[in-house]
Amino acid sequence: MEDKILQGKSIKWWKEQFPLMDNIISTKEVFWANPKAKKFLDAVKNISLNEEDVKDAEKRLERFAAYVSKVFPETRKTRGIIESPVVKIPAMQKKMEEMSGGKIQGQLIMKCDNDLAISGSIKARGGIYEVLKHAEDLAMRNNMLKESDDYSIIDSDKFREFFSRYSIAVASTGNLGLSIGIMSAKLGFRVYVHMSADARQWKKDLLRSKGVTVIEYKEDYSKAIVEARRQASLDPNMYFVDDENSTNLFLGYAVAAYRLRDQLKKIHITVDENHPLFVYLPCGVGGGPGGVAFGMKLVFRDNVHCFFAEPTHSPCMLLGLMTGLHDKICVQDFGIDGITEADGLAVGRASKFVGKTLEELISGCYTVEDEKLYMLLSALIDSENILLEPSALAGVSGPLQLFKDEAGKKYMEDNALKDKMKGSCHIAWATGGSMVPEEVMNSYYKTGKDILLNRKFSDN
Ligand SMILES: *Cc1c(COP(=O)(O)O)cnc(C)c1O
Repeated sequence: MEDKILQGKSIKWWKEQFPLMDNIISTKEVFWANPKAKKFLDAVKNISLNEEDVKDAEKRLERFAAYVSKVFPETRKTRGIIESPVVKIPAMQKKMEEMSGGKIQGQLIMKCDNDLAISGSIKARGGIYEVLKHAEDLAMRNNMLKESDDYSIIDSDKFREFFSRYSIAVASTGNLGLSIGIMSAKLGFRVYVHMSADARQWKKDLLRSKGVTVIEYKEDYSKAIVEARRQASLDPNMYFVDDENSTNLFLGYAVAAYRLRDQLKKIHITVDENHPLFVYLPCGVGGGPGGVAFGMKLVFRDNVHCFFAEPTHSPCMLLGLMTGLHDKICVQDFGIDGITEADGLAVGRASKFVGKTLEELISGCYTVEDEKLYMLLSALIDSENILLEPSALAGVSGPLQLFKDEAGKKYMEDNALKDKMKGSCHIAWATGGSMVPEEVMNSYYKTGKDILLNRKFSDN
């Protein structure tokens, strides 16, 4: 392995360049602070997307709200806007401190995207936004719709017949397929979801029950995305939702930040120079966490510190950012198997578009063991009665790792944050869970409880 050549250099050479590489390759938990991180105003100079783009996405979602609330009655209480609650989780914070023997300064809160309407995960942001944008583009191009219309007219046979002439393809580890599939099928599109081997059976069954064509692969996500892209390239009426490169997905996710600003105000959480905000985002290919982090930086600039969270067996974004090689490498190149219980994060190759965009804005990345995801899953149910899927727990362990790891401590020191941590706020982004069938959730819970009987959270 040491002699293997990667991008013209031996693995041994890569290890010498990056002190963390040894631990990453041996799938130990790591915390990495991004040495390329810059002040917001310097970093955004190199980014082509801006606040106007996010506002444009926000307005589009508002135009569609009348339609969404009509066809998805569960969104009526938010008037067709798909948004999740923010909750304080002090009992979980205490439990985490007990479990780990560590201390979390400041308060821990949770952004509950597990509760997002329609598809129960963060993908209900970007995924649904991209489908709506595509539908709007098609309808406008055919003079069926203008911005000033009441978009509830889209809930009609005329529109469904129109959209049925077009199709949509996407590759997914599960949740993106759910979002794209459910939304596209509702509009009337024909839709093809290419599922990687990691995708859970219940997600495939649910999609098929909605009339979605599910194509299954024995391989991982990289294979599914190649096949989905190929299928769409052969059919001019087929639209490919490109999880690796889509700015639409990214902007749909970014909208979350502006809404979150208002939610934080309502629960009296201040974010300013003396009250730093930390956000911990479970990361797969990068679009979801990247879009949210971009929005958060636009809103809170240097007062927000965003970290990506990945499984120890699938740290694609960490490797891409740290080496600067982005999508040129995958975790398997380094002998890491990419196999994880965190199905939503089981991605071996990160998005170059996201890596490049966030390169100077993201504070860092850390990795979490699968067993810890399960321990946190059970602990969160016991302490707060919040039910998440394993991937979503990756964000929860962030504050423990920030305060425990030497690199985390150094990050706080380097950014003159040490004295401000008492007034800080930590947001664990809970990225999915409410659609998990009860018996599957019960088995997750039991797995976590069993692990807790056999090892301490702090054991490595
Ligand atoms: C997809 C997903 C993520 C990460 O989003 P990416 O855009 O793939 O990085 C995190 N958590 C859950 C539950 C997901 O489904």
